[in-house]
Amino acid sequence: METKREFLKKLSLMTVGGLMAGSIAPVIASTKNIPTVAGKKMIGLQIYSLGKELTDNVPAGMKKIAEIGYSTIELAGYGNRKMGQYEVDAYRKIVDDAGLKITSSHVNPATRNFTRENVASIYEFWKLAVEDHVKLGVRTLVQPMMPSIETHDDAKLVCEVFNKAGEIAKAAGIKWGYHNHNMEFKRIAKPGEKPPTGPFASFMPFGDVIYDLLLAGTDPNLVFFEMDVYWTVMGQNDPLEYFEKYPTRFPVLHIKDRSVLGQSGMMNFENIFKKAYANGLVEYYVEIEKIKANMTQFDGVKACFDYLNNSAFVK
Ligand code: MG
Repeated sequence: METKREFLKKLSLMTVGGLMAGSIAPVIASTKNIPTVAGKKMIGLQIYSLGKELTDNVPAGMKKIAEIGYSTIELAGYGNRKMGQYEVDAYRKIVDDAGLKITSSHVNPATRNFTRENVASIYEFWKLAVEDHVKLGVRTLVQPMMPSIETHDDAKLVCEVFNKAGEIAKAAGIKWGYHNHNMEFKRIAKPGEKPPTGPFASFMPFGDVIYDLLLAGTDPNLVFFEMDVYWTVMGQNDPLEYFEKYPTRFPVLHIKDRSVLGQSGMMNFENIFKKAYANGLVEYYVEIEKIKANMTQFDGVKACFDYLNNSAFVK
């Protein structure tokens, strides 16, 4: 016979479970469903940063990421309904066992050329990807590569497909987003407009910036933007101007520099964090590609963590 105390304990666990399940909302409202440790900064890592150093031994690598101090990870490498060599359930278990939480994942559909003929296959791709990512436990699913956009009509179709992908993800409680590089800041001519020529043509404010067309053409309830602040600067743009103009569209960021965070002089992370927090930043992921000589990827990933952990402007 169960004592009242045991019954109440069980009930409280059920309530917690119920609340947790209920907290998977279609919007990225908070980080509350991620266990926090008092006094520890919640810093995320895009695992692409580690390349082969992680994929060679995923269980050991995940433990190392947690030991450095990261709390959350954003995946890269999903394909053929697997995470590298692992089934998604097995992969999630490895990450859980390391004490990390998978909060996001970068996924590209098979084609960069969207047409009226192939959109159905892209929607089918997202349906399966969403199914697998429910198992992985993500809150967000992000397309990291730009589909081909040369004209306003291309941009219109891409926005339509993004909205639909967002709808498919939303139905499963996942928020769908788009991650930029620098090519999104290319300008394309307005219909009928003749692009300027000459040595300064690319700096002239003609036509429309592709990124702006994506922001304007997608439904804020279905598509968010994970701004990669480094690539935005590489695209000759100011992240803060975008945060000012679209305060609700960037709940997630990629925090990236030319190499180790804070060392190049190109990026004003203090201003970036200040403005992003004011706008309600929910999550951010460190990303590092080019490592300085005599450093491993893990060394670089640790140096980035230390930079953010020691920066007073990072909460
Ligand atoms: Mg990035």
